[in-house]
Amino acid sequence: MNIHEYQAKEILKKFGLPVLNGKSYVNNLDSIENDLIDLKGPPWVVKSQIHAGGRGTGYFKNAFNGKGGVQVIFEKNQVSNIASSMMGNVLVTKQTGEQGKLVNRIFIEEGCDIDREFYFSLLVDRTKSQLMIMISAAGGIDIEEVAISDPKKITYIYFTSNQDIKLDEKLQKKLNINKRQLDELNSITNKLLLAFNSIDASTIEINPLVLNKQGNFVLLDAKISLDDNALFRHPELVELKDLTEEDPLELQAAEHDMNYVKLQGSIGCMVNGAGLAMATMDIIKQYGEEPANFLDLGGTANKDRVIMGFKIIQSDPNVKSILINIFGGIIHCDMIANGIVEAVKELNFKLPLVVRFQGTNSNEGRDVINNSSLGLISIDDFADAAKKVVELSQV
Ligand code: GDP
Ligand code: MN
Repeated sequence: MNIHEYQAKEILKKFGLPVLNGKSYVNNLDSIENDLIDLKGPPWVVKSQIHAGGRGTGYFKNAFNGKGGVQVIFEKNQVSNIASSMMGNVLVTKQTGEQGKLVNRIFIEEGCDIDREFYFSLLVDRTKSQLMIMISAAGGIDIEEVAISDPKKITYIYFTSNQDIKLDEKLQKKLNINKRQLDELNSITNKLLLAFNSIDASTIEINPLVLNKQGNFVLLDAKISLDDNALFRHPELVELKDLTEEDPLELQAAEHDMNYVKLQGSIGCMVNGAGLAMATMDIIKQYGEEPANFLDLGGTANKDRVIMGFKIIQSDPNVKSILINIFGGIIHCDMIANGIVEAVKELNFKLPLVVRFQGTNSNEGRDVINNSSLGLISIDDFADAAKKVVELSQV
């Protein structure tokens, strides 16, 4: 789960990290004039809050001053104009895709005189199965680009979860900072580490971490991703979820205890169990197509869920054909088959559908599909079923 910059900064502030004062707005800016009395400036920084980076260099669909989603404003009476122009507008950045993202939250911060910009992040390195810190003097820009063009500029530090980190003189030299600043960076690092562990984060990215003109470090941007599997330990963090940032179909599935994941291809996959979902997607790719999604009905799928599942898959316009791959264990294939037939009738479902059953009552299930006279295709062999559904997606 991702959270917004202003939410991340509120959390980091509680851990004693240096962030600037700011005010956040959801959907309306009514209190802005009043709030500005308390915010020191000039300048003020008006920041669009969306779950995507590159806001500073992005552009608005409804252009108003040719600038991006992060704007430094020097005239107080302009702040609310700029904020209103951003609110409700669509911001396009290199991470949003061309369709952009609707801005319905704004953060206004006291400005900062930047001397230098650094990059700092804490994350999980999945290839090494270790926690990792990344630090670079090349900040404010895409770290992925730095990693390609100038990899030596990035320092990687591996750590275990409860270890004190001590940044050394070598790094001090590399970052070109003085001894006092190294101490400050050490303190920031260990506070970030504590925050990372306490909230079960999977990423904390500060880009940029800046040295201001007074020579002190300030966290100017903050991105936090939380580990979904640990969210049950943090009910107060679950509340930070911005539902407008989630895929509505994924939300609808979750409400019915199903897992739906939207992908980019053309074949809808309805399965039970995550392992079978992976195998189903692999075999579709092997036969040259890409899955449009997968919907995991779960181990205790019933007829109502199948109907709901069809509704969800059907509302994805990219789906050209569907593979239903069910392994009957606790659930009986004939029950799912009845659900499929009922759903197809009820929804007047027209897309080509290939069904594969294995396990409990698979023969009975197959009979239900074959006797339905709805043009449904039942194939027992996994590879043949995949081949067929790929073929049907291409006609
Ligand atoms: P991003 O583009 O989505 O990563 O948004 P950031 O919050 O990182 O802002 C982009 C850039 O705006 C930063 O790298 C800074 O150069 C600049 N910026 C952000 N806040 C301030 C500020 O308070 N003062 C100044 N002068 N520049 C800022
Ligand atoms: Mn940034």
